[in-house]
Formats: sequence, C-alpha cells, structure tokens
Amino acid sequence: MSRGKLFVISAPSGAGKSTLLKRLLAELPNLAFSVSHTTRAPRPGESNGREYHFVDRPTFAGMRTDQAFLEWAEVHGNLYGTSRAAIEAQQAKGLDVFLDIDVQGARQLRDYGHPGAIFLFIAPPSWAELERRLRSRGTDPEETVQLRLNNARREMAEADRYDYLIINDQLDKAVEALRAVVIAERCKARRYPNGQDIDWKLKVDS
Ligand code: ADP
Ligand code: 5GP
Repeated sequence: MSRGKLFVISAPSGAGKSTLLKRLLAELPNLAFSVSHTTRAPRPGESNGREYHFVDRPTFAGMRTDQAFLEWAEVHGNLYGTSRAAIEAQQAKGLDVFLDIDVQGARQLRDYGHPGAIFLFIAPPSWAELERRLRSRGTDPEETVQLRLNNARREMAEADRYDYLIINDQLDKAVEALRAVVIAERCKARRYPNGQDIDWKLKVDS
C-alpha cells in the first residue's frame, strides 16, 4: 500500500472551504480530514473531535513544546495547529489527508516541511459575496466578521503561491473541480481514481 498524499487547502474565512470539504469527503473514498487543535471556542453545532479538538491555551502551548504540531499559527486571534501524529497515522493507512489550514500554515509546509504536498486555494467569486457568506453563516459576532474580512485581503494575496485555484461560485461546479484535482493527483501517483493501488505485478504478468 502506498502512503497517502497531503492536500493542503486554504481560503479566506467564509469562502466555503468547510462546505466544499464536507461534500468532497462524502463523495470520494480513501480521504481523511485532519482535525486540528484550536483555542477558539466551538461555534453552535460544532462538536469536539469532529470539526476541531477544542483546547485551552496552556494545553496548546504544551503540545507546541512537545513538537506535536506539524505546523501551527495564530489566525484571527486564536491558535490553530495540525497534529503530526494524526496525519502520520492516516497517511500510513494509505489515506489521502486534507488539511484545512490558513496561509501561514501552508507556507510553513511548503517552505520547510512538505514540499511534496498539493496546495489548493479556494476563492470567493467577489468581495461582496464573501461578506454576504460570512454574515449568512450567522455564527460569528460583528467584530469577528470585520476581523475576518480585513484578513481576507492579506490571504487572497497569497493565492498565486498555490498549485490550484478554485473559485467557489456555484457550489456544484466547485465540488467538481475539487474532485477533479484529487483524481488527477491520484493518477499522477500511478494509483486508480478510487485510491486503490495498482497491482503492478499482475499487470506485468498478464
Ligand atoms: P469557510 O469554511 O471557508 O469559512 P463555510 O463553508 O462555513 O466557509 O461557508 C460560509 C457560508 O457560505 C456558509 O453559510 C455556506 O453555507 C455558504 N456557502 C458556501 N459555499 C457557497 C456557494 N458556492 N454558494 C453560496 N453559499 C455558499
Ligand atoms: P475557523 O475558525 O473559521 O474554523 O478557521 C479560521 C482559519 O483557521 C481558517 O483559515 C482555517 O483554515 C485555519 N485553520 C484551521 N485549522 C488550522 C491549523 O491546524 N493550522 C493553521 N495554520 N490554520 C488552521
């Protein structure tokens, strides 16, 4: 069995990354979502261990000291980090792992850790639509929405450092593009689109 690949996905908050990933994970086999640790408070409807592992700052600091994070960053005033052990375990099982991380975390992986990872950027179709989506989610107070909108400009400026750019205008089309990227990358690794390894011995013998 070959090791799973790392797909790193970034977007300004509200662009629709979580919505897209939920659809992708439901539609394609052999994919895993990396559940990050964060000091942010859970939003209504979020549960510990599903969207995030919600931890306090001392716990997060302890994990940093123990080098438990593959990467970590402060985003919109909260700390977020990717567990090294969890990713390793999923990749070892042959699962392709999706990391939903911000542009700072992606930079760390690209420059120092995982140049072989595949980097995808999700953009909203316009600033006005980004603002509308952030408000329509209805889970963040006004000052948080403002902070996320301000940060979005800085994040969008990094889009050209990614391997793929997907504009999330119509959801179905964006999901299709995302699926296409994963399938193409799996073919590059000489694996079947469903994620199963090709039995090369069988091919050679037949
Ligand atoms: P992110 O994870 O990037 O912060 P979400 O997935 O939470 O963003 O999406 C933000 C809001 O926008 C949600 O209310 C979601 O239902 C909505 N949304 C996502 N994609 C689309 C789309 N293509 N068209 C319209 N609304 C969308
Ligand atoms: P949210 O609070 O809306 O769930 O996420 C805010 C931002 O933090 C998003 O850009 C998301 O991609 C990013 N994020 C989530 N988990 C991680 C992580 O483990 N590392 C980094 N660097 N960013 C993360």
